[in-house]
Amino acid sequence: MIEINNLTFTYDTCREPALDGINLTIKEGEFVAVLGHNGSGKSTLAKHLNAILLPSGGTVYADGINTADIKRLAELRRLVGMVFQNPDNQIVASVVEEDVAFGPENLGMPSEKIRERVDYALKTVGMYEMRNMAPYNLSGGQKQRVAIAGIIAMQPRYIVFDEPTAMLDPKGRQEVMQAIKALNSEQGITTVIITHYMDEAAEAERIVVIDHGKVIIDDTPRMAFANVALLKKLGLDVPQVTELMFRLRGEGIALEYNKLTVDECAEELKKALKKQV
Ligand code: ADP
Ligand code: MG
Repeated sequence: MIEINNLTFTYDTCREPALDGINLTIKEGEFVAVLGHNGSGKSTLAKHLNAILLPSGGTVYADGINTADIKRLAELRRLVGMVFQNPDNQIVASVVEEDVAFGPENLGMPSEKIRERVDYALKTVGMYEMRNMAPYNLSGGQKQRVAIAGIIAMQPRYIVFDEPTAMLDPKGRQEVMQAIKALNSEQGITTVIITHYMDEAAEAERIVVIDHGKVIIDDTPRMAFANVALLKKLGLDVPQVTELMFRLRGEGIALEYNKLTVDECAEELKKALKKQV
């Protein structure tokens, strides 16, 4: 479990706090999406989960480890992995499998064990066949999956993804999202994903919306996206289906608001049309 208690953080160069009293508990196995417009504090929050940043006030615990406890930093970093936006900044080696081996090698593991972990990690993200390639010959989506494999090889319980698909084309986005979903559903890795794609967020179990360093919404996608007017005010989009239902309701058509999929939307429209006849 990750426990964030009254977390505040102010950058040295800023007067306004980037995080302003965040309280969140992320339970084992959860798949949480974090939304918020640019500058709302998402990356600052993510960086607190594995002690890249330390709180100005409040606490962050991951499985009972206080992130401010310097003596347990290495343990914390193995427990909570981070994947960032740009795969090019995360890949260090000139061969895919060497890159994935980098983390376990730094832990001083025996070489057979490293081999095992690297193969497992590459298979998990569907990059095993390309293990001998040079990263610069890969597509963005493939590179990002290699970066994710590098994190998996460390066997973390939690992975925080900070806009992992922001630099990818639609195909790369899909590949990476598929890999992330499988990590959560098949490997049970607790997943926090920061994204500005509403379709990605709609696939999470839980949505946390941040604005000005505060949690504004913390709910299921179905209920979170029902706050169409509030989300728009915060500068966020909603999934297209939600938008359509919102506008039709605005035209006075009686529709349930909390429909999330195309199928649900079609069902609801059929019902409304039948009533009108
Ligand atoms: P997000 O990831 O939601 O776009 P950030 O967490 O990056 O937001 O930023 C939150 C606030 O902190 C913004 O006002 C941003 O300008 C400021 N900020 C982010 N990084 C730094 C930094 N390294 N130094 C000073 N201010 C920063
Ligand atoms: Mg960010």
